[in-house]
Amino acid sequence: MEGSHVHEVAIVGAGFGGLGMAIRLKQQGTDDFVVIERGEDVGGTWWANSYPGCQCDIPSNLYSFSFARNPDWDRAYPMRDQILAYLRDCARRFGILPHTRLGCELLGATWVAAEQRWELETTTGRIAARVLVAAPGLLSEPWSPSLPGLDRFEGNAFHTARWDHSDDLAGKRVAVVGSGATAVQVVPEIQPRVARLHLFQRTPPWVVPHTDHPIRPELRELYRRLPALQRLSRAGIYALRETFVPGITRDRRWLRLQKALARAHLRRQVPDPELRRRLTPDYEIFCKRIILSSRWYPAIQEPNVDLVSSGITELRERSIVDGAGVEREIETLIFATGFRPAELPIAGRIRGRDGSSLAKVWGGSPEAYLGTTVAGFPNLLFLYGPNLNLGHSSIVYMLESQIAYALDALRTMRLRGAAEFDVRPGAQAAYNAELQARLEQTVWNSGGCGSWYIDRNGRNSIQWPGFTFEYRRRARRFDAEAYRLAAPA
Ligand code: NAP
Repeated sequence: MEGSHVHEVAIVGAGFGGLGMAIRLKQQGTDDFVVIERGEDVGGTWWANSYPGCQCDIPSNLYSFSFARNPDWDRAYPMRDQILAYLRDCARRFGILPHTRLGCELLGATWVAAEQRWELETTTGRIAARVLVAAPGLLSEPWSPSLPGLDRFEGNAFHTARWDHSDDLAGKRVAVVGSGATAVQVVPEIQPRVARLHLFQRTPPWVVPHTDHPIRPELRELYRRLPALQRLSRAGIYALRETFVPGITRDRRWLRLQKALARAHLRRQVPDPELRRRLTPDYEIFCKRIILSSRWYPAIQEPNVDLVSSGITELRERSIVDGAGVEREIETLIFATGFRPAELPIAGRIRGRDGSSLAKVWGGSPEAYLGTTVAGFPNLLFLYGPNLNLGHSSIVYMLESQIAYALDALRTMRLRGAAEFDVRPGAQAAYNAELQARLEQTVWNSGGCGSWYIDRNGRNSIQWPGFTFEYRRRARRFDAEAYRLAAPA
């Protein structure tokens, strides 16, 4: 351990959540905190995902911290490099880098009851802290299927979240597995340079036209001079996006317009009726994440692309065999198969009061109180925790709501002279019973699709079933009555 110093706060992860927490802590005068990040840089998912075409599907003016406006966004929807530059700049500007250890992975975190603190074991040493903020991100662990014969395959195989930049794909025969948000961005980028692209689509996504466009330098200048104008734009985007919530969570009739838009887009871009049939989803729009793209349908109709919907039977040394038995020679295999956020490995590394890990307590179905605190895990604050993901708006808004709650928890402890907080199991159970009842009616649970929102037990442990301002209201103050507070031992 670094001497016997016990930090006030240890933060795991330097993405939007961890950095946001660190900045807010610092702004409130707390300097005794440490941020650990397993990546070689700050940025979280935006550092880890470097695949061609990587872009956020939430508009720039909303996908940023409210306290760190950025008049320099040059596109309506930010590209990965710009988001990464923004986060690096925030870390530097707000003085977070001196607190940050990069290339430092959490191996284990144990609650030491007698001393009312967390003890962290990391790849670069031990750290002790009164409060542990886990901000590992939701989509941080790539997942790919264990296809038969994969170990025999002699070509290059990688996941989009671990893009292999040494493979330029030029003139190669390539297979892409998946047709979700990531594949839709990757395929139009790589299609022009590969010799042949075999696209394995299991379920077609709903796709609406992209409204991305460059932000003119004059407008950026205006944002610089008149910050209120950018705040107004942000508020407008925010309000517009909240109008999707009733349709997603309660009454599907509100989704008709989006569905009509997606159908018209498909008709306009795909003239062949047979291909259109294969690209038409048979589940409700928004059940899986809705896709914004004006380039997906054109790209997959290029002559060097084969859309394969018969599935994958096996891999051989230099080929992939589809469900119809057709063998396709390939040199590179790209998994655009997403993540399993209900099975985050970090949950197996955090051990609470009785020595059990979060993973054991959760059993594949994560749950928390307000998506943030877990009974039996004192002084742990989980950012982007269970049931906080959105299908319509910016996670940064949710993170800022959580961070305000976390800061109020620290303030309350100080004011009441408490050394420990632990959410009451009853409060956690009642909160989750309410959420699960509400989720039943949502399009994610009953829209007729499979998605990463539903965990291995068939429970939706991922999505927030309401307006984002409802969450902000509920998390606006630390509700000490839902907790057991303990004085210093
Ligand atoms: P995803 O949405 O989970 O899509 C995974 C794809 O892989 C699906 O098409 C899935 O088919 C397919 N797949 C999985 N296992 C397969 C198998 N054994 N055989 C064939 N196909 C298989 O993952 P993602 O595209 O990486 O996106 C994950 C999330 O990341 C998104 O929902 C979004 O929240 C976020 N994201 C956002 C952006 C953005 O901001 N624009 C971009 C990328 C990602 P099925 O549908 O049949 O399961």
